[in-house]
Amino acid sequence: VSLLTALLLIAGAWELTLGAGRGGPMKHAMAGLAHLAFHPRVERFEKSPSTSPTALKALNLEDAQLGVGKPSDFRWNQLLSFDACVQCGKCEEACPAFAAEQPLNPKKLIQDMVVGMSSGTDAAYAGSPYPGMPVGQHHCTSGESIFPSLLDPQTLWACTTCRACVQACPMLIEHVDAIVDMRRHQTLTLGEIPGKGPEVIANLRETGTMGGYDLGARYNWAVDLNVKIAKETEAVDVLLIAGEGAYDMRYQRSLRALVKVLQAAKVDFAVLGELETDTGDVARRLGDEATFQQLAHKLIATLNTLSFSKIVTADPHVMHCLRNEYPAFGGKFTVVHHSTFMAELIDAGAISPKPLEVDHTVTYHDPCYLARYNGETEAPRSVLKALGISITEMERHGVNGRCCGGGGGAPITDIPGKKRIPDIRIQNARAVNAGTVAVACPGCTAMLEGVVGPRPDIRDIAELLASALEH
Ligand code: SF4
Ligand code: SF4
Repeated sequence: VSLLTALLLIAGAWELTLGAGRGGPMKHAMAGLAHLAFHPRVERFEKSPSTSPTALKALNLEDAQLGVGKPSDFRWNQLLSFDACVQCGKCEEACPAFAAEQPLNPKKLIQDMVVGMSSGTDAAYAGSPYPGMPVGQHHCTSGESIFPSLLDPQTLWACTTCRACVQACPMLIEHVDAIVDMRRHQTLTLGEIPGKGPEVIANLRETGTMGGYDLGARYNWAVDLNVKIAKETEAVDVLLIAGEGAYDMRYQRSLRALVKVLQAAKVDFAVLGELETDTGDVARRLGDEATFQQLAHKLIATLNTLSFSKIVTADPHVMHCLRNEYPAFGGKFTVVHHSTFMAELIDAGAISPKPLEVDHTVTYHDPCYLARYNGETEAPRSVLKALGISITEMERHGVNGRCCGGGGGAPITDIPGKKRIPDIRIQNARAVNAGTVAVACPGCTAMLEGVVGPRPDIRDIAELLASALEH
């Protein structure tokens, strides 16, 4: 083992010092081998990883260097991973921002990082450019700033962090980590976030909500539903966390439906009420690790005062943050998505939905943060099956699902393209003649319902289940 390690170390060192940016038949084989041996996310290869393979890594805010501003700021094994790219284009094919002709192409981004570490230019790049940005104008040395000579910051901000590129990459390259590392530099060092980013961050810091809302109003939608508010003195089985969607009138319909399901199943649950502050999910994806960590510590402290056996949420972004990213800050909770919880209630016989009479095609849109980030593709389908609905799958589904455009703070930074990502997804639904798209995320609901023109109905699976309990 030690001989193999030594050989791989030599291969890695050779790649980083001599091989980077040069061609040759052994180049990718050597880089690929060394990359796999020293992969920046070892948890991807572990059977029972102690940390989530999809959680962003915590940034030490005391570090002199925050994020990545120069190619040489990347960790050595990240640089090695970029050099393992075989330019197959699978990430480009999967990228929703590229499909919408926003100025992002994950393949070009990785190749530009190779250019940066070998202090060259992109003139020899033969693939598709960032839409709207001609090839041949990007250059950098490894110790120079990446921005704007190698990368226009718009390229970073167009990313929805959907991980479709990572999922598709045969070389297991971690595009999202690289993008967030560079966003961290933009946000924490340069203080530059486009669009409504600065306003959202200020709101989060001042009010604990993205929209600058009153915390006391988060559960106004539940005022007539006889829902318990969590108290330090009273243990409950389930703590229901609504997330920012609770302030959105459309999404309140989904939450009210979920409450009806929980009540029908006689679940002992409470909501957080005015104690609920934002998880920090969007701040983190925007690169503002400082605001994220502040919000994470605050919410963890709140949750630690309460007694519950599990958290249930209908928002996969909230779930991902609480389940996978809070453990690094001491917050260890059992967190379940509402689709999983509802499927369990049906399986246990706690509710017996009657089949819904549906006279049109129904499809299901997988949220990226539920399917790709957390591997949950079956529970929502099992709920729909219990309602007698036989779904027709869209072109991309399951862990290969196509993003709605709502993640990673992309609706906030709002980088223009020639098309809109949700329009592309609705086109996929139209292609299977769907009259209803079942969803399981407030972001997906908002993005898909925002499509202009005739489109299928968008229904959260909790709404469909609640209606099957009514008749
Ligand atoms: S995470 Fe999604 S949007 Fe971002 S580069 Fe990858 S595929 Fe494109
Ligand atoms: S999928 Fe991976 S190997 Fe293929 S072009 Fe993209 S980064 Fe390179």
